[in-house]
Amino acid sequence: MTRIDDLPIRDELRGKSPYGAPQLDVPVQLNTNENPYPLPEPLVERIAERVREAARGLNRYPDREAVELRTRLAAYLTRTTGHPVEVGQVWAANGSNEVIQQLLQAFGGPGRTALGFEPSYSMHSLISRGTGTTWISGPRDADFTVDVEAARAAIAEHRPHVVFVTSPNNPTGTAVDADTVLSLYEAAQAARPSLFVVDEAYVEFSHRPSLLPLLAGRPNLVLSRTMSKAFGAAGLRLGYLAADPAVVDAVRLVRLPYHLSSVTQATALAALEHTDTLLKYVEQLKAERDRLVTGLRSAGYEVTDSDANFVQFGRFEDSHAAWQTILGHGVLVRDNGVPGWLRVSAGTPAENDAFLDAVRAIKKEL
Ligand code: PMP
Repeated sequence: MTRIDDLPIRDELRGKSPYGAPQLDVPVQLNTNENPYPLPEPLVERIAERVREAARGLNRYPDREAVELRTRLAAYLTRTTGHPVEVGQVWAANGSNEVIQQLLQAFGGPGRTALGFEPSYSMHSLISRGTGTTWISGPRDADFTVDVEAARAAIAEHRPHVVFVTSPNNPTGTAVDADTVLSLYEAAQAARPSLFVVDEAYVEFSHRPSLLPLLAGRPNLVLSRTMSKAFGAAGLRLGYLAADPAVVDAVRLVRLPYHLSSVTQATALAALEHTDTLLKYVEQLKAERDRLVTGLRSAGYEVTDSDANFVQFGRFEDSHAAWQTILGHGVLVRDNGVPGWLRVSAGTPAENDAFLDAVRAIKKEL
């Protein structure tokens, strides 16, 4: 049997594993930070209508610039942050993973470096590797917050071409305040002109406001967003960014032509028409997230304060063994490889009850 390493593959990919959250058939799946609520039926109908319309034009390539969709996304950002965002400041792609890939293709690449504060979203380092960008792991404190001085020192030492700050952070749930981001942005710009990406995939679940107002007057700052979480549309694959229009122009240099299909654009537009309904689910999930925090703490677990739709809990002597025991109770959570900790996504009230029952029960088994 031919193995990957028998192929003339790039050296930096030898011996590596792909991104892989286990997709197991378990009654309660709380492992990938998905929104547990299916899209409401009126929205499903609207998607069908819009997609039917789009299907009539599938002989043609899609709108390469996705202007209508970007206009609607800009309106969503303007409305939810209170800061005006223009269509030219917004770019959309197939999930924020693709947004990040396009940013690294344009601003990273061979001979360049990207730095993030770990533990954080593993795809930042994996996409860096895939684009030939050298990854640098920056520090985080023991309580998973970003220590400003340590972070500034790492930036000054490594002078990265791209910096990632994830707020709220995955898998820890911790958010970063605006002062910290500004301080790190300034440290990064002092080291060399570099692209500073704030990944706000979970921001709609946060206790803190979006960092979008910081974009004004900072052309090297980028905000990355997604419809996978708050809009409950992980299957849609729609991510977007907000930045100076020049960043959008830079990304256009590397994107594949017609990367966003007409079907994707039609579906995302339908979902945006139902923003208010979808944001009501976000409020329910925030309350459920807080209930998980309280429930875990009263069951005797340590919990990292969460601004996301998931909660990091521990501590376990052997987190993988704990993961397996919870799985034995029919609940799939996530072992992100952070020693001593596991992560659970906020599900429906019934799913969260099942999870809390399981973790109370295993307290005795561990
Ligand atoms: N950023 C963060 C921090 C994430 O956790 C995720 C998904 N788990 C993404 C980006 C990617 O989301 P998507 O590609 O679905 O937009």
